[in-house]
Amino acid sequence: MTKTLHLAEALLPQGFASNVKITIEGGVITAVEPGAAPVDAGHSFAAMALPGMPNLHSHAFQRGMAGLSEQRGAPEDSFWTWREVMYRFLDRLDPDDVQAIAAQAFVEMLEGGFTALAEFHYLHHDKDGRPYANIAAMGQAVAAAAAETGLGLTLLPVLYRFGNFGEAPSVHGQRRFVNDRESYQRLLEGSAAAIRDLPDARLGVAPHSLRAVALDDLGWVSSLRPGEPVHIHIAEQMREVDDSVKIMGKRPVELLIDTIPLDRRWCLIHATHLTDAERDGIARSGAVAGLCPITESSLGDGIFDGVRYRDAGGAFGVGSDSNIQIDAGAELRQLEYSQRLRDRRRALYAEEGASTGVALWQAACAGGAQACGRAIGAIAQGCRADFITLDVDHPAIVGKSGAEALDSAIFAANALPLRDVVVGGRRVVTEGRHTARDSVRARFAGVMRRLLAAA
Ligand code: ZN
Repeated sequence: MTKTLHLAEALLPQGFASNVKITIEGGVITAVEPGAAPVDAGHSFAAMALPGMPNLHSHAFQRGMAGLSEQRGAPEDSFWTWREVMYRFLDRLDPDDVQAIAAQAFVEMLEGGFTALAEFHYLHHDKDGRPYANIAAMGQAVAAAAAETGLGLTLLPVLYRFGNFGEAPSVHGQRRFVNDRESYQRLLEGSAAAIRDLPDARLGVAPHSLRAVALDDLGWVSSLRPGEPVHIHIAEQMREVDDSVKIMGKRPVELLIDTIPLDRRWCLIHATHLTDAERDGIARSGAVAGLCPITESSLGDGIFDGVRYRDAGGAFGVGSDSNIQIDAGAELRQLEYSQRLRDRRRALYAEEGASTGVALWQAACAGGAQACGRAIGAIAQGCRADFITLDVDHPAIVGKSGAEALDSAIFAANALPLRDVVVGGRRVVTEGRHTARDSVRARFAGVMRRLLAAA
């Protein structure tokens, strides 16, 4: 079915344009015509449209534990104490709980400007560590939540085999994640079945980290889904870097680059602690740096070297990771502010004279699309019709247009002042509200009350 929509103003790959008519067939944009005459009101958006932001990294179930690990712990409290809270929380979850929590997270993603997700999915097995009858039951729950909410999905079943570098045995808290190569292949088959009915969904692979797989797993796992995305957590924490040097004799990114040929299929999640050579090596490879600025701030990870990485031509995108807060604009703002705080200068990501908001939005859309392995991230012919519109009457952007409006939406509003969200040509958010917000929230509330009462 062919559909035409009229956008009063839209961010196209070449910049902002007015009166843009877009033609959509089967959820894909087949034509983009700037300067077109308006059509009838039922098919037009008076607001400003941006390409929907791909969210390149999330663990959806962690939305349910957001805020539960903010008590001050030991002086060295960091990621590793947070990880203990996470292990205890996920001990209680079954697939229905995961679907309810994921659906809530996905509604918030869509209401926060994200229209696609690469879900880094590592919670696989039953509470005793044994696979469910359908080994991909948990992935199925994630796919069902995507189907319910309309979020575009790239599912990344995680290969998790070991407890630390050097193939150390996994610990009790990791029993629900662990597969050997044989069970991982069955998991991939089950995951392919789980996403079969989702529009334009993709299935990639994810070796969890260099802590959790053997070096020879990297080539093996990336060969299982040729052409599809490969994501890995890397160099998030200094302890991880120190362990890597101590046990493997190299820093994590150095070890990765020396082990396998990095290319555009790869997405390196966090990549926080890099030498200049590692940073430039990622940029040269064409891989995407998967930055999660809010989570990295929350966990005290450190600051990614965004400015010099951009100067080296590196691709990046953003992810909501722990889902402690979900907003595409807030992720970009946190990224930019981290650079300003470190370098004590303003407007670091953009070229001189250019809009920071536009530079960040366009770059993160391109990198996020690449990491999701889908034709998304631009209002352009051949891309999925995934876009968001901003509320032009919102106090942060009223009276503004183009780059000023986008800069203000990111830097001058508490959350992205969003009005409508269209995914694959279908409107799922109207006036800032997801069409299933109330029912998803009610089910989530029931699950959370039960889980927390049992804690
Ligand atoms: Zn993560």
